[in-house]
Amino acid sequence: MYFIANWKMYGGLNSLNSLHKVNKFFKTFKKNKSLRIIYCPPNTLIRPMSKKLKKSNIEVGAQNCHEKDSYGPFTGSVNSKMLKNVGAKYVIVGHSENRQAGETDKLINQKIKSALRSGLKVIFCIGETLSQKRKKITNKVLNKQIKLGLNKIRNNSKVFIAYEPVWSIGTGVIPKSNELFTTINFIKKKIKKSKVFYGGSVNPKNINELKSIINIDGFLVGGASQDSKKFIDIIKKTYN
Ligand code: PEP
Repeated sequence: MYFIANWKMYGGLNSLNSLHKVNKFFKTFKKNKSLRIIYCPPNTLIRPMSKKLKKSNIEVGAQNCHEKDSYGPFTGSVNSKMLKNVGAKYVIVGHSENRQAGETDKLINQKIKSALRSGLKVIFCIGETLSQKRKKITNKVLNKQIKLGLNKIRNNSKVFIAYEPVWSIGTGVIPKSNELFTTINFIKKKIKKSKVFYGGSVNPKNINELKSIINIDGFLVGGASQDSKKFIDIIKKTYN
């Protein structure tokens, strides 16, 4: 199972102190053979976090990247090569918070290609809005996001899918188990052999319900991952 911590725009150098708890837990956790933990902090923390986790099996990723993998006059931007250079192994692309800020499927496709060229693994986020869910066009929306996002990418082996319904992110609301199972199945049929994660308000209280959905390969955890106790709790309960 994969557990991805998306710290979003939170955290300073002192936030790294909490990592030793997760590291200690990971080292002593008996079921750690199938357990993968990936931390995606803000770019400012990728280097110090990678150094801190050097001897651990916890991996580090970024939350976004520029679509170009060459240097260029793009003030404030960071590309996938630069992220790799400071220790990132993964990058999240297509998060709904960035889609809402104007990121298009075409741009997402360029970012994924660029990340793969740089040797990063990609956590590709897809998900429908509440109004799309109400219109019952979830599958149509996901199909389009997958098709355009992965356009002309022949080898998907380094692309993981994170299904994150927009209405579930940061709201405390999660999909009904049967609906989530069906949607994950739909995605798996579209992208064969790809691991599919669920993200949206995962916390220690709802993880028992979520872990019973057998086709989910991991969880993308936002808010709750900033608290290492909650994050460890989520992992422990998943394996219990
Ligand atoms: C996210 O932003 O990817 C996410 C899943 O957030 P949260 O867990 O806070 O809903």
